[in-house]
Amino acid sequence: MEDDFAQWYTDVVKQAELVDYGTVRGTMIIKPYGFAIWENIRDELDRQFKETGHSNVYFPLFIPESMLQKEKDHIEGFAPEVAWVTHGGEEELSEPICVRPTSEVLFGDYYAKNVHSYRDLPKLYNQWSNVVRWEKTTRPFLRSLEFLWQEGHTAHATREDAEAETSQMLDIYTELCENYLAFPVVRGKKTESEKFAGANYTLTIESLMHDGKALQSGTSHYLGTGFAEAFDIRFLDENSEEQPVHQTSWGMSTRIMGALIMVHGDNRGLKIPPRIAPTQVMIVPAAQHKPGVLDKAYDLRDQLQQLVRVDIDSSDKQPGWKFNEYEMQGIPVRLEIGPKDIEKEQVVLVRRDTGDKEFVPLAELESRLPALLEDVQQNLYDQALNHLQETTTTAVNMDEFKQALETSPGFIKAMWCGDEACEDKIKDDTSATSRCIPFEQEAISDTCICCGREAKEMVYWAKAY
Ligand SMILES: [Zn+2]
Repeated sequence: MEDDFAQWYTDVVKQAELVDYGTVRGTMIIKPYGFAIWENIRDELDRQFKETGHSNVYFPLFIPESMLQKEKDHIEGFAPEVAWVTHGGEEELSEPICVRPTSEVLFGDYYAKNVHSYRDLPKLYNQWSNVVRWEKTTRPFLRSLEFLWQEGHTAHATREDAEAETSQMLDIYTELCENYLAFPVVRGKKTESEKFAGANYTLTIESLMHDGKALQSGTSHYLGTGFAEAFDIRFLDENSEEQPVHQTSWGMSTRIMGALIMVHGDNRGLKIPPRIAPTQVMIVPAAQHKPGVLDKAYDLRDQLQQLVRVDIDSSDKQPGWKFNEYEMQGIPVRLEIGPKDIEKEQVVLVRRDTGDKEFVPLAELESRLPALLEDVQQNLYDQALNHLQETTTTAVNMDEFKQALETSPGFIKAMWCGDEACEDKIKDDTSATSRCIPFEQEAISDTCICCGREAKEMVYWAKAY
């Protein structure tokens, strides 16, 4: 991974059995292990969406061209990567149909027909679906023609309500990353040029990969009344006056799997945080042909099943092969048991994050195992936090900025005047982009790092996926 991070990534997603390439360029087959991780992420997000009052719905895959054209900024932003259906069977369609790249317009059209009174609000909808974006360069999870995600689409009576929703959903994404996926994020607002096409503003969480590149990990958009104007979504308020709705949309996709891989992985493969791991403990029997070993191993599995997500590999493959395989898959803890262990009434626990080995008396296993998994979870977070802190630097001029990119790839905190021209110039000169204007501002210097004029904001910059 130190020599060729991109190749390491490709090798790991294949060898850890997460994905395979689809037949059409840029598509992916998510394999059982990859999908099991995604399901755990999905289930946790879904739980939090429902806890905050959202309902799941399902909208069509197709959008008529005329509908997509209604919101100007939106179509301009998405046009380059839209896939079109022009034929149904052998017949040419009178109007081309777009395969959804995102569904704001479909929800806009629906809300226009179904929101009439303040009593109909808020509408708090989410859908789990696939979308298609015709990307030029693709990589599994990070950028693929088709990917899975959730997209929330809400409509509110007031700006305050919609903005509160926008923040709340960013909090949920933050919570997922920090408490389940075990990595810290930088929270802030996107600049005008990086915001979602058609939004008033975009809130984002940005995470840092092992190679020092950033990855946008979840976004929440306050759409204002732009779509309401374009789609004529109006309601009568309590004084019987007609008002446009205020909307939000927010999404997290299978891209987050890329973050999970690139934040925690090492040269042995993945490290999956216990709270999201499909299998938390893998039992590998030693000398399993000896009498009593397999029986004991299966007894242990049955006993531990109540406590943790546990599996057993009793295949006739060599233990060494099994060790490598489950390290590659990033299973948090390996439990070894053989004839000597049975004699001593103990097992061996090996944690994936540090490789540390411990002998645990059988009588203590039920209390030790959950504690060990919590330790692994915490250690993965701490390591990711250390890495982020160690590689986040500050720069007060372009020389320092370029030097930082060279010597310590990671986030760079630097001041900005707010002019898009400076943002573009920094990108052209260094290929680092503005990641976000963080909520937690610091006054690093008084002047814009690029033009020297008065600075307005501190921005996190980085090369990004
Ligand atoms: Zn400037």
